[in-house]
Amino acid sequence: MNPFTAVLGSLKNPIDFLEYFDSQEAIDAGLDTATVKKWETVHNTYFGPTKWTRKQKQAREAAQRSGFTSDQLYLIEFRIKHITVEREKWALRFRLLSIRGNFTTLKCKADDIVPEKKAPAPRKTMAFGRSRGRMRPMRVMAPERDMAALEFALNRHVSADRPAGPQMVDALLEILGLRNGESNEPAVPPHSTVSPAIPRPMILIPYPSYIDILNGDGDETVLGLTDGTTMTGAEFLAEHYGEELEVATFHPQHGAVNLYHTKRFANQKQRDLARATSTTCPVPDCRQTSDNCEIHHVEAWSRGGPTNMANLAPLCRYHNRTNDDDPDRNHRGRIKNIRGSPVWCSPRGFPVANKVHPFGAMTLLFGR
Ligand SMILES: [Zn+2]
Repeated sequence: MNPFTAVLGSLKNPIDFLEYFDSQEAIDAGLDTATVKKWETVHNTYFGPTKWTRKQKQAREAAQRSGFTSDQLYLIEFRIKHITVEREKWALRFRLLSIRGNFTTLKCKADDIVPEKKAPAPRKTMAFGRSRGRMRPMRVMAPERDMAALEFALNRHVSADRPAGPQMVDALLEILGLRNGESNEPAVPPHSTVSPAIPRPMILIPYPSYIDILNGDGDETVLGLTDGTTMTGAEFLAEHYGEELEVATFHPQHGAVNLYHTKRFANQKQRDLARATSTTCPVPDCRQTSDNCEIHHVEAWSRGGPTNMANLAPLCRYHNRTNDDDPDRNHRGRIKNIRGSPVWCSPRGFPVANKVHPFGAMTLLFGR
């Protein structure tokens, strides 16, 4: 066993060494305060004073069986922090301790198991920060439909060979008719605006709900739009009734209906269906909506991958570049088609869903 493997092995049983946790000793030894705080939280859970001593003892044993690192044990405490009923907290802790896997696996399972913290409803805000190097930041909270339209408008002319951020700033300043820092030049009149009509709503709905909406009692039906936002059936009727409806059909196992083509580039219909199947880039925690995505070949075109629905997935520009197209490369993970939906699989082959926007067609229609 080499020294690195030995250190990793010792991290696998934090219960053994955290029993003797001492924060001052850890700080004096040069550990950062964040780590010390995490260890303290774990120590208090498994060794601190409690009236649930029997549960605490069982939890120590479960933690030892789990082989979890202190980072994983802290993750559990972090995720159940908001649970106020102590009995419920212990139950969740035991469920999480029974999971086997690495940090990412535990994190994903925790998303499923732990009830979400009820956050206060966000309000509209806008704040400007302090200037640094003649630049100044801005933070905005605004209705998601408007922000999606803005994001789409700013992304529209972004060129792939340069970083997107600066180009989006330029586009925003141009829309606002500002001078982009050049105060001596006369102001350029705005020649483009943000059109709320740009993100075209393609409707991802199962057949019976579609009928409800047309009958006018579809208030409760939530629709996922391809710009990454949602609207109710009633809102949909108010905005789009009378316009041409686009309804994609989905098979429970195979996903979007296949349209076989031998061309390298997907046609518009295929692009639309791919975006309907997955309303965001499928890489976990990526929040790029499918309208802002490129269409990716799951099996690379250069390796004989066909341009048909089962082989297409929307992927943001960044993740399209970092995807392990080569089946022998296992660096950054790759997109696979699992039962009709594009799903990101880790370099070791574990599928992980992106839960940023749960309104992909297959989730909406078939509950996954
Ligand atoms: Zn992405």
